[in-house]
Amino acid sequence: MNELKPCPCCGSTARPVGSRSGINPHWKLCRVICDRCGLTTANHSTPEEAAAAWNTRATPPRAEVDVEGVIVDVLLLLPNDGAVKANVASCIRRALSRATGGNDAT
Ligand SMILES: [Zn+2]
Repeated sequence: MNELKPCPCCGSTARPVGSRSGINPHWKLCRVICDRCGLTTANHSTPEEAAAAWNTRATPPRAEVDVEGVIVDVLLLLPNDGAVKANVASCIRRALSRATGGNDAT
């Protein structure tokens, strides 16, 4: 079986589990489940299919973005015009307020 990627939700390890079908006890069903949060694939016929389904969904965690650094860069790249910079800074403050759930009526 292919190596299992970390859980896409919590980054923990995952493992394959098997169970008997409720429809036909001779059918063995396989799925992959996260050791920490319990995220699971659907049932598959083989461990290989379950692993493939798990690894298809798994994605690496998103990179952290230095929002403050990006804002500073934007302000530095603007033309050296005080009014323009003040307008852009005001827009950034309003956008940040909205993004963080602040109450901004302006
Ligand atoms: Zn998890």
